[in-house]
Amino acid sequence: TRILGIETSCDETAAAVIDDRGGKTEILSNVVFSQIADHAAFGGVVPEIAARAHVEALDGVIKAALDEAGVTLTEIDAIAATAGPGLIGGLIVGLTTAKAIAAASGKPLVPVNHLEGHALTARLTDGIEFPYLLLLVSGGHTQIVHVEGVGRYQRWASTIDDALGEAFDKTAKLLGLPYPGGPSVEKAAAGGNPKRFAFPRPLKGEARPDFSFSGLKTAVRREASALAPLGEDDIADICASFQQAVTETLSDRVKRSLERFRETHPDIETPALVVAGGVAANQAIRTALDTLCDKTGFRLIAPPIRLCGDNAAMIAWAGLERLKAELGEDDALGFAPRPRWPLDQAATPLFGTGK
Ligand code: ATP
Ligand code: MG
Ligand code: FE
Repeated sequence: TRILGIETSCDETAAAVIDDRGGKTEILSNVVFSQIADHAAFGGVVPEIAARAHVEALDGVIKAALDEAGVTLTEIDAIAATAGPGLIGGLIVGLTTAKAIAAASGKPLVPVNHLEGHALTARLTDGIEFPYLLLLVSGGHTQIVHVEGVGRYQRWASTIDDALGEAFDKTAKLLGLPYPGGPSVEKAAAGGNPKRFAFPRPLKGEARPDFSFSGLKTAVRREASALAPLGEDDIADICASFQQAVTETLSDRVKRSLERFRETHPDIETPALVVAGGVAANQAIRTALDTLCDKTGFRLIAPPIRLCGDNAAMIAWAGLERLKAELGEDDALGFAPRPRWPLDQAATPLFGTGK
């Protein structure tokens, strides 16, 4: 199967072609057009600007993905597009374009949950088997998910307030660092002293498996205003101390679910912990999780950086996985975009079984 993926849920306009003919799966192209420049002046994504930018960019991005893959639309077997969760304007643009292509060509359309794209990427890059434990850390989500199979997801933990990416973005903003905040904070932290500020480790040591990051952001705000005006060293030290608090909290929280996974699957000798989503690009976080996995007998699977952030290869792949598992929507052309769509509700009926 050769599948075209389309992703427009936030501020990346993306298209990709994946091919699993001949036994092995290949990413033939993966074009990501980032709107960062359009939103930078506002310090965050502006939904109206994003929707307009998707309209302007999408046709060219799809064409670039097909060209780079060296295929034409007639040589595509199916189309997968993000149908949620995300900003409604962008979802409408991407899903409508995909429906038009599918309707005109008579090829199947697979509406894909964006989070399922993040969740299944490790199977594309590392070919890992089910079940595994997923730490999804992105701009809008922070969750631990028990991944049992395609469309079989159980949420074991989530954030009770901010997502981790959001905490990075807000911290960057209040320190005057450029958007997007995650990479800015990571860069600034590299030269800083992680011990200078004792920021809180929210929920650390608690039995419940969830996450919390808003207290951390508030502590940063308090420290930053107490020190104002901030020098470059102050900013570096705040970022390093923030990242230190994040990695410690994250390790503590994830440990709970590693224990639960062990109890659930005593037969698996070296289970996999998959980290996915934009924040998974953070090297300090990868290192901390690697250490945690070493200590607990898990192996850490972290996709290459370019597949951590939003892209369409992960959407094409999730679409392919759904097709292979014979999971899809009865009425894909009538499928309405879902701004909210929890991953554990991404399980859809078998083709032809009704809703
Ligand atoms: P979701 O996937 O939850 O719908 P999203 O698609 O907007 O949200 P992603 O694109 O997956 O989120 O990830 C973007 C987030 O990742 C942003 O919050 C960004 O700051 C963060 N991020 C990117 N790189 C890094 C990094 N090196 N360190 C920390 N955070 C990072
Ligand atoms: Mg983004
Ligand atoms: Fe994402």
